[in-house]
Amino acid sequence: MDIGGTRTRVAALEQGQIKARRSFPTQSLVELKVGLDQVLQEAGWAKPQAIGVAAAGPVDMRSGQLLNPPNLPPGMRTASVGTELQATFGCPVYVANDATTAAIGELEYGHKAQDFVYITWSTGIGGGIVCGGRVVWGATGQAGEIGHMVIRPRGPRCGCGKRGCLEALAGGAGLAKAARRRFGQAISARELVTLAQKGNPQALELVKTACQAMGQAVALLWELLEPELFVFGGGFTGSWDLLAPRVLEAARPLARGSLRLAVTPLGDDVGLLGASALWKHISPDWGALQAGRVRTPG
Ligand SMILES: [Zn+2]
Repeated sequence: MDIGGTRTRVAALEQGQIKARRSFPTQSLVELKVGLDQVLQEAGWAKPQAIGVAAAGPVDMRSGQLLNPPNLPPGMRTASVGTELQATFGCPVYVANDATTAAIGELEYGHKAQDFVYITWSTGIGGGIVCGGRVVWGATGQAGEIGHMVIRPRGPRCGCGKRGCLEALAGGAGLAKAARRRFGQAISARELVTLAQKGNPQALELVKTACQAMGQAVALLWELLEPELFVFGGGFTGSWDLLAPRVLEAARPLARGSLRLAVTPLGDDVGLLGASALWKHISPDWGALQAGRVRTPG
């Protein structure tokens, strides 16, 4: 399952094939369990072998508990998703941050590059790093949060409390704020991008500034990791022709090597597919802790 800020997707998957699926507004654990029951029934399964959960972070990787993610509704923020689902469905449950999980989907079912950075470019900006075919989790599972790399130290305030994070500069929410200041009225990131596509010079300038921040981040990541590919997912990929050349133009002078940008071929399913393969890629220590939090019946 993929628990997003507004919608939750649940699916029954076998070897990366979706057998049954549901999508509903994210509210509380009750709806999650109902959705899961429905897809199990439709797939004709008594119970799943395992459940993988991709959730808007941060996630405590030892317990699988959501740590008050600001982008989730109040009913989900401190939910013990892992413990609850494990007790209800009697199988191991693995929980991880949604951007890292999307990187796993991309690794298993997308371009299948072995060294790449996955970037979710949407209302917020998230990321996942894969080196030599292995997911980089970090000491506590917080690695790859590229949205919170500081690009302009005196830039706009980010939801995390810092200033000038990539997310505050190039995420949809940050872009909408900048657009409001520029146009003197509420305007969504989507509307701004549409205006830019029509050639509005003010909108184009704002989009270019966002792309410069993204380009800087991409160049920094290239110097650090030398990925063969940067794979993008999320709402902004719908305007790829407008954004990609501007990101590349900003990044190229700042990186010594050749940069390749691509859009995930998996669309909105990238998180679901990654969640279904989470059991394979979660670090063995956390996997054992998360799976062992409740004894399965029998
Ligand atoms: Zn931040």
